[in-house]
Amino acid sequence: MLLRPTRRDLLRAGAAASVGLGLGPAFAQAELPPTPECISSQAETARQTEGPFFKRRSPERSQLREPGMAGRLVDLSGFVLTRTCRPLPRTIVDLWHADEKGVYDNAGFRLRGHQFTDTEGRYLFRTIVPGDYSFRTAHFHMKVAARERPVLTTQLYFPDQPKNLRDPLFRPELLMRIARTGDLVRARFDFVLDMS
Ligand code: FE
Repeated sequence: MLLRPTRRDLLRAGAAASVGLGLGPAFAQAELPPTPECISSQAETARQTEGPFFKRRSPERSQLREPGMAGRLVDLSGFVLTRTCRPLPRTIVDLWHADEKGVYDNAGFRLRGHQFTDTEGRYLFRTIVPGDYSFRTAHFHMKVAARERPVLTTQLYFPDQPKNLRDPLFRPELLMRIARTGDLVRARFDFVLDMS
């Protein structure tokens, strides 16, 4: 029988290693406590519309915060995994979102960026908590693209947002897990692609 790493194993490895993306110890600090073990047949992450503000060719970067930018700091991290909990390295994770006032930068690439998961299948973005707008509760837009696979497009949500239940697009299975350290919000979400 082939043994697969559990999420707990992956997190241990993540805490011990400082590989890929040049994330180093800062990545380990950004991680949340270990999750329950990965179940053997996870469902693919729910898909959602990309909405009207996606732009191709975002910069490759993990740091979306800029000097003087308003908003609460959030570090979003996690793994990209297959349904059998296999981590996927070199997988594109693209993030775009509104600023703290709920406004997208459609002229430039502010609060937009993509990166490749590291050798352990991890990603990390340093950004700010987006504001809500119109009928939309606060959310991150994400695309996850493994080589030669259909792109997974979805959105992630923050718990305890008063507008969550009034937003028809809100999905509880797309909630990030949140921890707070001082002024920093640490958000965690593991993506599951439809691969074995
Ligand atoms: Fe949006």
